Amino acid sequence: MIRFIILIFAGYLGFKLAQRIVAHFFSRKIQGSPPPPEVESEELVQDPVCKTFIPRRNALKAQKDGVDYFFCSEGCRKKFLR
Ligand SMILES: [Zn+2]
Repeated sequence: MIRFIILIFAGYLGFKLAQRIVAHFFSRKIQGSPPPPEVESEELVQDPVCKTFIPRRNALKAQKDGVDYFFCSEGCRKKFLR
């Protein structure tokens, strides 16, 4: 009878452990997928004044004739808008 209880207890522990491993594996899989917005922020834009490529999030933006332009610095932006 005691052996039977030990067997059930061991089986229960094994099941709990397997559940934990599966949960860990799945949570890792979700974290592993790259978030799309981050990829978009790394997009490179070209400065029309000095022809330098800069990451879009670091660039200075200006609008001319309804078109967005991106610049590496305030100096380039002023030169373009002048
Ligand atoms: Zn520039």
